[in-house]
Amino acid sequence: MSTTDKILKRVINASMENCRMGRTCIGKQIRKYETTNCHAIVLFYHEASKVDIEQHLLYLKNEFKLVSLSEMVRRSKQNSIDDKEELIAITFDDGHADNYYALYPLCKKYGIPITIFQTSYNIGEPIWTAELKANNINTELYKTYNSKELKKYIQSLRAEKKYDPVEKVRRRLLSKEEIKKMSMCDMIEFEGHTHTHIDLRSLSISEARKEIEINIEVIKELTGQRPNHFCYPFGGYNSAIKSLVKKLGFSSASTVLPGTIGNNTDPYEIRRLNAQFDLKDVITKIRLYQIKSDIIKNFS
Ligand SMILES: [Zn+2]
Repeated sequence: MSTTDKILKRVINASMENCRMGRTCIGKQIRKYETTNCHAIVLFYHEASKVDIEQHLLYLKNEFKLVSLSEMVRRSKQNSIDDKEELIAITFDDGHADNYYALYPLCKKYGIPITIFQTSYNIGEPIWTAELKANNINTELYKTYNSKELKKYIQSLRAEKKYDPVEKVRRRLLSKEEIKKMSMCDMIEFEGHTHTHIDLRSLSISEARKEIEINIEVIKELTGQRPNHFCYPFGGYNSAIKSLVKKLGFSSASTVLPGTIGNNTDPYEIRRLNAQFDLKDVITKIRLYQIKSDIIKNFS
């Protein structure tokens, strides 16, 4: 059980038992981990083939109102999300190849809107974190490399160990052709996730700007659309990175902080729930966060 859930459990128990803990105190504890009093939620996945994605999508479609991330952000900015409205937006990070063969046919079949945050330097090849892991190398040490250093390092690794990256890692990101094909579908939005997938906090602002600008150009070239939403790699951001993303014209930026989406939520700190788990665990998580939202409303 995570710390957040332990605190939630304690708070729910405390409120149910009508203990001496004051209402304000309970409200404050929850607000620390939660931002809104609405039920709307953005989910995030990485690889569609790692879960029973059809089961997930069908359940979500039947139980909730599925909207695109654009629609969710627009509704939040327009202050038009009702407290109990069960909106869900589905996002996929990085743009893995299985988004093409395991997800794309289902999006079309069931008419489900999906946002893919596409990293761009290693299109058609494994994402560098997976390639390092396949070589038993700790990825943490390389998060602060810039695009040039990282490419150089990976090239030297491939030359030294003589392997085919896709064969070795057994997974890759979407190819150019797959992105082009998917982008023609109205249900799919390709959005920004930096060129190299580096923690932006470790770069200078001009390097960070370059990372984002190259990514914008690659996505624009492949899809014919300038990306309008952004997602911080590794969920890493600070106030300078937030301002940069805003300055570069994005309407929103997603994090990996859990929570629900409300009216006038900070669009550059979109909270999302990780859904790369068994469906029953995802449902529990969604319902827990909705309960938190109800508690906030009752105690604020
Ligand atoms: Zn990512």
